[in-house]
Amino acid sequence: MQSKLSKLQKTILLTVYKYRKVPFELNRRLLSREIAKKNNKNHSTPSFQTSMCNSLKALEQRKLIESINWGEYRSYVQLTKTGISTVKEIKLRKQKILLVDIDSEIPNLALMKLSSFHKIKGDKVSLLKHPCITGNEKINHKFNKVYISSIFEENKDKTIQFSKQFDNIELGGYFIDSKKELPYKIEHIMPDYDLYGINHSLGFTTRGCNRNCKFCIVPKKEGTIHPTGDIYEFWNTKHKHIVLLDNNILSCPEHFKKICNQINENKLSIDFNQGLDVRLLTEEHVKILSTMKIKPELRFAFDSLTYETKVLTAIKLMKEYNIKRALWYVLVGFNTTWEEDIHRIMLLKEHNQRPYVMRYKTVKEKDHPDKSEYALLASWVNQYRFFESMTFDKFKELTYDRSKINYRNRLKTNCLVIEK
Ligand code: SF4
Repeated sequence: MQSKLSKLQKTILLTVYKYRKVPFELNRRLLSREIAKKNNKNHSTPSFQTSMCNSLKALEQRKLIESINWGEYRSYVQLTKTGISTVKEIKLRKQKILLVDIDSEIPNLALMKLSSFHKIKGDKVSLLKHPCITGNEKINHKFNKVYISSIFEENKDKTIQFSKQFDNIELGGYFIDSKKELPYKIEHIMPDYDLYGINHSLGFTTRGCNRNCKFCIVPKKEGTIHPTGDIYEFWNTKHKHIVLLDNNILSCPEHFKKICNQINENKLSIDFNQGLDVRLLTEEHVKILSTMKIKPELRFAFDSLTYETKVLTAIKLMKEYNIKRALWYVLVGFNTTWEEDIHRIMLLKEHNQRPYVMRYKTVKEKDHPDKSEYALLASWVNQYRFFESMTFDKFKELTYDRSKINYRNRLKTNCLVIEK
């Protein structure tokens, strides 16, 4: 005969029952807090945590609750044997979900959040990465729901073509539907990092930007800068590295300090992946940055000669704080001349900085007469071993010897690879 339920176990069951319609909200941390509050206890004490663990384990063993593993959390989804729902019924309700990543260059955050949302509900989630060349590719499996995410404008047509084969579908991406956003409860969910098998956390703590660079969709899509959260919303505590996707965090100085503090307090390394705005960089910022573990390197943008002086001042300031080198995105072929582009690149080289060429490319620019020259420039600068060891003319000479060149994977790297 099974033993009677303890008082704590009964409280857990009642709490799970209360949350049965929103099971994705009931991870172990919330459950502990809620129960500690009811019993006037401190949820973070080791003794309370141990009792919670033992009780949850006992309830699971008796199949009175079911949990789903989700990153570091376990979410308690339903009561069984109580007339609410049985484990079998839950399993029957599980849906097959397909997430399609058309063209992301880094793990797609929206898809990782959708994955969490569905896994917590018990659905089976599959990921399809970069599946289209023409859009006519066929998938021979049935899914209850399909989500497709497409980032780049040039892939819009083939995304729409590819999506036509599915019935229950959600299409996302600025160029597909500029107004579409994830619902609040999914936007603020912990991403499912297992979807891409990554061992770092990534996310936004702000959205929007106060600048209005003509080539950029961020202000049109997200408006002016506004904080939206902090690292605790997306940081999986198993990870030691954070990739921050904020577009212009320096325009929220207090928020920037808060995020840097959180990173340092938790002894994490960080990648300011979208780059920091050098025009807003102050000595105080540099001082903070010099205390942080930044990986792989600090990133800025140097898109126009109008702020050359700011760039030089920043390089000098960083050297004073022992930050010897940063990576600089250099936009070329947009509203600058070839000479200006080369000047920015060589100026950075001269100061021992690392330029990274970003070619401006849209569908309209397809027939730009100098396109091949810009592609070569990007190949030279972005493959650092060539940039360091030879001149642009020498690199061109080498690449014109077609027998040695393998043009591959242009979408991902825009690089020419010399075969050994
Ligand atoms: S500063 Fe960056 S995010 Fe802001 S508009 Fe310019 S390119 Fe876009």
